Amino acid sequence: MAFEKVMKFGGAALADGPAVERVCGLVRDFGGDRPIVVVSAHQGVTAMLDALARAATQGAIDSDRFRIRHRGLLRQLALDAELLNRYFAELVSLLAEIARRQRLLPGERDLVLSYGERMSARIVAHALKKIGVPATPADAFDLGLTTDSNHGAARPLPESRLAVRAALLEIPGVPVVTGFLAKDLHGNLTTLGRNGSDLTAALVAEAVGAAELELWKAVPGMMTADPALVPDARVIERLSFEDAAALAAQGAEILHPEALAPALRAGVAVRFLDVRAPRSAGTVLDAGSATAAPVGIAVRRRFQRAGADAEECALVALVGASHADLAVPARALAALSRAGVQLVETLVGEDRVSHRVVVHERDLERAVRAIHAEFFAAESARVP
Ligand code: ASP
Ligand code: MG
Repeated sequence: MAFEKVMKFGGAALADGPAVERVCGLVRDFGGDRPIVVVSAHQGVTAMLDALARAATQGAIDSDRFRIRHRGLLRQLALDAELLNRYFAELVSLLAEIARRQRLLPGERDLVLSYGERMSARIVAHALKKIGVPATPADAFDLGLTTDSNHGAARPLPESRLAVRAALLEIPGVPVVTGFLAKDLHGNLTTLGRNGSDLTAALVAEAVGAAELELWKAVPGMMTADPALVPDARVIERLSFEDAAALAAQGAEILHPEALAPALRAGVAVRFLDVRAPRSAGTVLDAGSATAAPVGIAVRRRFQRAGADAEECALVALVGASHADLAVPARALAALSRAGVQLVETLVGEDRVSHRVVVHERDLERAVRAIHAEFFAAESARVP
């Protein structure tokens, strides 16, 4: 039977036992006949593993926090305490090898990071079974998801689509697939870069010809700005694929910048949904909805300017509209100047990026709020 829907859950949506239970309920209640589930590592785990890999190169092995984090999840979910022992043992012997050598072989960091997603796929699959949803954990690299050998930022090889499809069709129940992980043509494990699970989910959706890809997050959807910077930031209800990709490419951390290409290629409908408000509309990506007005603001902190030394700068990009529309940058610049923001540099726009400026980190909040008030405040909001 074909797969209609891919549901991807990010690390923040899987942060602890109750969060995993909530996700399992969503799979049961909104998954339709037989969804494919793609998971990230539990929140904070990838960073923890990265630190472990680095510590090992200094000769230190300290996997206790990692073990305690996952044991805690097993306990909260009342799952078998021994479930992950095999992986703990593998990871410890890998770290011991690195510590002995005091350096990482090419691709070994990817191997260490892979334990995050391997664990979460097992935990989610077993938690699903507990509520009566037959589920099977599946490592994407075993499904045949293949990439180039660019460890840490590997890019998928299109040939792997058929293999992935065939492998998924063999899996009983709901496949719970590891995000972020793949292998190269030599069989070495690779990772797809930060937020790579979004890309995995889109590749899987393309491979099986799913109608829908749902990216479930612990935020309400794609937003006009980071709500941590702008309290009145709003959810963008409809967004073109191009503008969503531009927001990601300019630094919006909600999405892997290349995740949308497979979905667009395969005509898969994409929706961002909020695990805490599953009935809210979230953000729908829509192939035909590029607007003439800006859609949102993306920020890149600790932005390194070519040739400049490490000043504390941030890049602020106004996404949407065409940079050929000179009225947009003029309005943005006027708003920044009224707010008293001193510009470090103005950069030319790009496709679907109408304006980009570099500001001092200390001015970042003021700059983003000024641009947001100019283009996205409730009274100036234009419905496309
Ligand atoms: N676990 C990886 C990360 O933290 C991949 C992902 O979350 O999508 O970036
Ligand atoms: Mg993530």
